[in-house]
Amino acid sequence: MVKTLSAESPGLAVGLRRSYGDSNLNPDGRVIDMTGVDRIISFDRRNGVMRAEAGLCLSQALQVLVPAGWFLPTTPGTRFVTLGGAVANDVHGKNHHAAGAFGASVTRLKLLRTDGAAQEITTGDPLFHATVGGLGLTGLIAWVEFRATPIPSAYLDGEDTSFTRVEDYFDIAAEKKNSFEHTMAWIDCSTKGAKLGRGIFSSANWAPYGDLAPHLEQPRRNVPLDAPDFTLNALTVRAFNSVRHELKRMRHGPYHTHYDPFLYPLDGIAQWNRLYGAKGFYQYQCVLPPATARGGVTELLKTIVASGQGSPLAVLKDFGPNLPAGMLSFPMEGTTLALDFRNQGERTLRLMADLDRIVAEAGGRLYPAKDGRMPAEMFQAGFPKWQDFRAYVDPGLSSAFWRRVAG
Ligand SMILES: Cc1cc2nc3c(=O)[nH]c(=O)nc-3n(C[C@H](O)[C@H](O)[C@H](O)COP(=O)(O)OP(=O)(O)OC[C@H]3O[C@@H](n4cnc5c(N)ncnc54)[C@H](O)[C@@H]3O)c2cc1C
Repeated sequence: MVKTLSAESPGLAVGLRRSYGDSNLNPDGRVIDMTGVDRIISFDRRNGVMRAEAGLCLSQALQVLVPAGWFLPTTPGTRFVTLGGAVANDVHGKNHHAAGAFGASVTRLKLLRTDGAAQEITTGDPLFHATVGGLGLTGLIAWVEFRATPIPSAYLDGEDTSFTRVEDYFDIAAEKKNSFEHTMAWIDCSTKGAKLGRGIFSSANWAPYGDLAPHLEQPRRNVPLDAPDFTLNALTVRAFNSVRHELKRMRHGPYHTHYDPFLYPLDGIAQWNRLYGAKGFYQYQCVLPPATARGGVTELLKTIVASGQGSPLAVLKDFGPNLPAGMLSFPMEGTTLALDFRNQGERTLRLMADLDRIVAEAGGRLYPAKDGRMPAEMFQAGFPKWQDFRAYVDPGLSSAFWRRVAG
């Protein structure tokens, strides 16, 4: 099957399709669903090294890792992601400042090229560094070997700190990064003036006490129908943010929690995306370097508030200085802001174009896994190694994203 793909008729491997944009789409071409290729090949319980087929879902990997006292080296905000997807986007988590992105813990992987070649590649091999964060374009990842991280329990000791304006986020993040492995902040995008970017800073470490019970696989609540269009208008976004802010303020202080609600809050609600209605939504995630992050994030928030299209889910997080393993990895040292915007057509596209200008001026870049519309110039400026990367692209593979940004 893989050998039937060619430059004239390119294919694309996909995992659980949790990328928001078009990097996992290949209109008019073949798509190879890797989710059935999901066996664990080996797991060394003494040193935490797991080798598994690329279609293995992180949720399933945790069912084996956690009872043995290990955890994923880092994890995105959903456990419904495959190993192949985690490598192809070099995904990051709340512990980026401490552990780097997923690729930093990958020790070896097997790649199938569409000319029939199969290669095992490891750190130091240029094809390895093109494949990590390589958007599925360098070949089909057959299996991945990674180093898990030891955990004393399945629980986290955390604390929440509320702040009244976005400037305070930066001071809190600088203070907490040395003592907490997991950090992130939730930001209110509907308040302005002295309360611009008020939010809650969450920080946590693995708790030294508690059992090693993994999460339950069943989602807890369901959104059975697309919500009607009026549900997330500016007023409801403001009300939603306000209530959430007040509730969290009451929880200000320390807490002890299982990893599941802390690391995977959205996984508790099946099909949460339906809350945005039938027209769906856009994700927008950027990272700005340390020198411009304060001013840039403030400017982004001002622009969002002025547009009246406040995002109900906005997350701020600092990335650490660890050099990424991938040529096209998204994380770089600085502050990342992730937002959802309900799709209101032209109005929303105009807002995102305004945000693009601020990100570009600040020397930042956008996350391909969360993008379905960034202009080619924006991608090429944000990922200066993209030209070098082209040499590693398998001519039998392509995606809608790649055709759009690299022509
Ligand atoms: C609720 C939610 C929260 C998220 N939070 C985060 C976060 O905190 N941090 C973060 O970094 N990301 C986050 N993401 C994005 C998600 O982690 C990535 O998009 C991830 O790559 C999705 O993996 P997937 O298995 O669904 O792959 P898909 O979306 O199906 O594919 C993603 C890419 O991987 C390639 N690919 C997949 N399998 C293979 C394979 N076997 N061989 C070669 N290429 C392959 C595809 O071609 C494509 O380019 C989040 C997504 C959601 C829905």
